[in-house]
Amino acid sequence: MNEKPLLVMKFGGTSVGNSDAMKRVKEIVKDVLHEGWMPVVVLSAMAGVTDELLRSTEMAKNRRYDQVLQAAGALTTRHYQVVDELIPETERKVFLKQQIDQLISMFAEYCRAIDIIGEATPRVLDAIAGIGEMLCVRIFAEYLNSSGIPARSIDATKLIVTDHSYQAAHPIREKSERKVKETLLPILQSNIVPVVTGFIAATEDGTTTTLGRGGSDYSAALLGAYLPAAEVWIWTDVDGVMTADPRIVPDATTIDVLTFREIGELAYYGAKVVHPKTMQPLIDAGIIIRVRNTFNPTHPGTLLTLETDRQLDGEIKAVTSIKGQALVTIEGRGMLGVPGVAARAFGAVAATGTSVPLITQASSEQSICFAVPLSSVETVLRSLNEAFSRELATRDIDRIWATDEVVIVTIVGAAMRSTPGIAGRIFGKLGSQGINVIAIAQGSSEVSISIVIDKADEQRAVRAIHELIVSKNEKAG
Ligand code: ADP
Ligand code: ASP
Ligand code: MG
Repeated sequence: MNEKPLLVMKFGGTSVGNSDAMKRVKEIVKDVLHEGWMPVVVLSAMAGVTDELLRSTEMAKNRRYDQVLQAAGALTTRHYQVVDELIPETERKVFLKQQIDQLISMFAEYCRAIDIIGEATPRVLDAIAGIGEMLCVRIFAEYLNSSGIPARSIDATKLIVTDHSYQAAHPIREKSERKVKETLLPILQSNIVPVVTGFIAATEDGTTTTLGRGGSDYSAALLGAYLPAAEVWIWTDVDGVMTADPRIVPDATTIDVLTFREIGELAYYGAKVVHPKTMQPLIDAGIIIRVRNTFNPTHPGTLLTLETDRQLDGEIKAVTSIKGQALVTIEGRGMLGVPGVAARAFGAVAATGTSVPLITQASSEQSICFAVPLSSVETVLRSLNEAFSRELATRDIDRIWATDEVVIVTIVGAAMRSTPGIAGRIFGKLGSQGINVIAIAQGSSEVSISIVIDKADEQRAVRAIHELIVSKNEKAG
């Protein structure tokens, strides 16, 4: 019986983006084995592959099957090259290349179907999007085997059972847990490293689904919760969760500890480093997560945990932003007397399948204001106009309208909102930069404040707020 602690390690697209990156991943796997862990490896598709697959479905829809074939050729070449660079044995190479050919042919066939019908259903999009992960795990597992580490590739379609919500499917716990245990535990007990696809899952009848873009983090968390594992490590291309997106704020620094609630807010409001659903399966199980850098593996990264000693310290820890939003306002003096306006408004929005990332603080009962993704604005306005056609006719509601693109900037830190002076410092900072705050979010959680600003002010606002974190860290240091 294998008594080693189980460790689920997920590697993102950049971490498996080429043969050099895969070599690093192999070294990390070797190291944790030496440290006495039994790892389960979860992989994303190689960087850019999921995008390329989905772009091809657009080409197919536009009746450009010739372009699909070009993409298929490029994908084949890219994966062949990694095989050639990593695997010395001819037999293994031939075997892998056959598998790559099969998967890419499947991709081309699905695209051909789209080309013929002129339409891509969410179901076929999921079948296509998941092929990148299937390619990646086959290559990496074979590479481990070829390096003397016994490994087996497994498609998560055999492990995680979901409903039929294609493109953002919901896992069904009992069924998935049983499959995960039945399939993975015997493999682990034989000291074989499972190399599992992130991102994909399947319905009970075996149709491929995906967990949503960036969903491999969530896959790792699900496996971690179902096995259960001792820890889940998310390996990415930065030194952990940082005080801001390093692409916007070059001097952002790594945060050593964050609570699940803090990372939850950060991820929900745009910090791409961890998928927002990742923490959910691990909270109840009390399993911790570490976020670490494949390209700097000696860095300890960030620890994500239920509570920290410093949970109630009220400091600003990080700032994040999310583009592509619009604010929708329903206004009218007569609204004061109309019962259930808010409920009906959000009902009408929900009916369009749009989620509302924030509801803003209204100064009176004469308006309701909330954000929706820019891409859903038209549908949402149509639905609201229908729902309130009577009130619009009687002028109880004067108008329902939306802004141009705005950005939501969210500032995160436990108990921050109840700490006196923080909001003042944030608004002071923005004011000194001449940045206009369009709205402030009414959130229920104590750990974040969101503000809505014009799209053009995003970088300046994030950098300005980040200065508040830098000056605090300098004082502490
Ligand atoms: P992976 O492919 O490993 O899943 P992602 O691209 O999904 O990687 O997420 C990592 C990226 O998230 C980083 O390269 C960084 O640009 C971005 N990012 C955004 N906000 C943050 C943040 N607060 N801390 C760290 N990274 C962030
Ligand atoms: N490959 C998938 C995506 O690009 C899943 C992931 O990387 O997490 O969305
Ligand atoms: Mg990611």
